[in-house]
Amino acid sequence: MTLADTWRAARPPTACVHLDSAACSRQSFAAIEAAAQHARHEAEVGGYVAAEAAVPALDAGRAAVRALTGMADAEVVFTTGSNHALDVLLADWQGPRVIACLASEYGPNLAIMARRGFEIRELPVDGFGRLDLDAVGAALTNDPPALVHFTMLGSHSGVVQPVRDIAGACHAQGLPLIVDAAQGFAHLDCAGIGADALYSSSRKWAAGPRGVGVLATRPGFLSEDTRLRLDHAESNVGLHVSLSVALGEHVAAGPEAVQARLRDVGAATRQALAQVPGWQVLEDVDEPSAITTVLPPDGVDPLRVRSALIDEHAIVTTFVDLWRAPNVLTRPALRISPHVDVADDDLEALTAALAAVSGV
Ligand SMILES: *Cc1c(COP(=O)(O)O)cnc(C)c1O
Repeated sequence: MTLADTWRAARPPTACVHLDSAACSRQSFAAIEAAAQHARHEAEVGGYVAAEAAVPALDAGRAAVRALTGMADAEVVFTTGSNHALDVLLADWQGPRVIACLASEYGPNLAIMARRGFEIRELPVDGFGRLDLDAVGAALTNDPPALVHFTMLGSHSGVVQPVRDIAGACHAQGLPLIVDAAQGFAHLDCAGIGADALYSSSRKWAAGPRGVGVLATRPGFLSEDTRLRLDHAESNVGLHVSLSVALGEHVAAGPEAVQARLRDVGAATRQALAQVPGWQVLEDVDEPSAITTVLPPDGVDPLRVRSALIDEHAIVTTFVDLWRAPNVLTRPALRISPHVDVADDDLEALTAALAAVSGV
């Protein structure tokens, strides 16, 4: 069986063409069952006794995060999602409140930085919006921030940012680095980046349940006080178990095989979409991610297209509004993000439906 076959067989059959993994992937039977079983166990023995019984499963989940990030001695905590992790990190930060990030930074992240009183410095980029490797060293030296926040793959674009290069530049300057891997984790290679903190969401490429996530930090990066507060906070143990099961399945599938397949999926998606008249694919065909964004022809509203694709063709995509990257986006777009199981038929259905609903 191919990776696509195994992945598909591990899940409930689709009632749609699902091309929306950057928003929320489809969970496996095992992840769904783990959450249900934990809830059942809570009813049988009590929530606190069930939580003790879940410790080995949660430890396995944390070990998977350490393996996937190559952060062998990291402290790993479960969160309610990526934004929660960033808020925890910035609330805990004791140094000067000056942070550097890309102009294309995720809008809700910018809002958290502002709310936590951070002044923002923009990292230099090339014409494609990718980190400018020739200019980054000087930028960090001449006007140094106190820390760097780097989103390795955005939610508004499939352009992969050179996270290892920013890590090298940060190390050279002795600057701490926080990596937003909401879209990168379980999609791109996250091993051994050299970040001080890396966080992600469960529901995106890792295909875990909604409403949870993970934060991995270098030992000592978070204050003792914050760590204790996180350890004692009320949390959804069942969904942490479920996420741990999803991570186990990802490790078993082979992270490198998943990454390679997702690169092929991205290329196939862009090749297919390039055939639709009037729509413009924004990434290079071989950009190494499975996120594709397309701009509609003039006068066509991608929000309406997204609805029509669901209502008339049962095809699920994402509407990319300007809030996702408010400092760089000027026009809303449509995002297509299939997982490893996408079939040629699915992409053919998409391109035909897209032409039909946009009248091209
Ligand atoms: C989805 C996303 C987030 C926020 O994740 P939540 O789990 O919804 O808090 C942050 N950054 C990027 C790049 C994202 O795509």
